[in-house]
Amino acid sequence: MSEVLLSARGLTKRFGGLAAVNAVTIDLWRDRIHAVIGPNGAGKSTLTNLLSGDLAPTEGGIELAGRDVTGWSPERISRAGLGRSYQKTNIFLPFTVWENVRLAAQSRTPHAARWLTLASKVRAANERAERALELAGLQPRRDFVAAAISHGEQRQLEIAMTLATEPRVLLLDEPLAGMGSAEAERMVALLLRLKQDHAMLLVEHDMDAVFALADHLTVMVNGQVIAGGTPAQVRADASVQSAYLGE
Ligand code: ADP
Ligand code: MG
Repeated sequence: MSEVLLSARGLTKRFGGLAAVNAVTIDLWRDRIHAVIGPNGAGKSTLTNLLSGDLAPTEGGIELAGRDVTGWSPERISRAGLGRSYQKTNIFLPFTVWENVRLAAQSRTPHAARWLTLASKVRAANERAERALELAGLQPRRDFVAAAISHGEQRQLEIAMTLATEPRVLLLDEPLAGMGSAEAERMVALLLRLKQDHAMLLVEHDMDAVFALADHLTVMVNGQVIAGGTPAQVRADASVQSAYLGE
């Protein structure tokens, strides 16, 4: 049975007079990919930053796994089960793939574990990192220096680093940006694997990938949701076609 893991109600973010995100309501379900599309400046990144706690909303609220997390810091929201990848990379290039994932795993020792012995914390972080590396398909690149792997693999590594914190909700901002078609295909396959057991918000410009991956779509223009539904419903929506898809 699927469940709502993240629920945002009437989210608004104003920068001066500009409502970058205007009364947006969105639910993210476990085992489902929810894509947000819209032209540049629509408010997609701002929405992602609101959900992750990197920005505080002007109005509205956010529930994560049934808890009101409105106004929480990004660190606290991360510990509560939300993982995000940034458009800008967090990878430490001189370190190996394994070291990057292992560091990310360490950065999130759950609060509940503070009484554990150091040895068991180290073991748990090792196990989290191993699982993340495996899930992201990066075992073969384990001992490569991050600077030496391909651009597509670096994006996989960012996702592995996010997975190492064991999130239940994943926010991915343009994971396919700058990829060739073979790399994009690998990333699409990875995102489909990650759909299992996660709720996912996907901001992506690659419409082929979006329509192949998304269970649900939200279309934003100028901070507002202008349409939403299944890919088939959104494709058939005349207002979306004129405002955005240009078909
Ligand atoms: P998208 O990711 O869909 O391209 P953004 O969320 O980045 O859109 O931006 C939405 C709008 O908010 C744009 O008009 C942008 O210029 C504005 N904006 C974003 N961040 C800020 C900020 N920190 N201060 C002022 N305006 C911002
Ligand atoms: Mg953006």
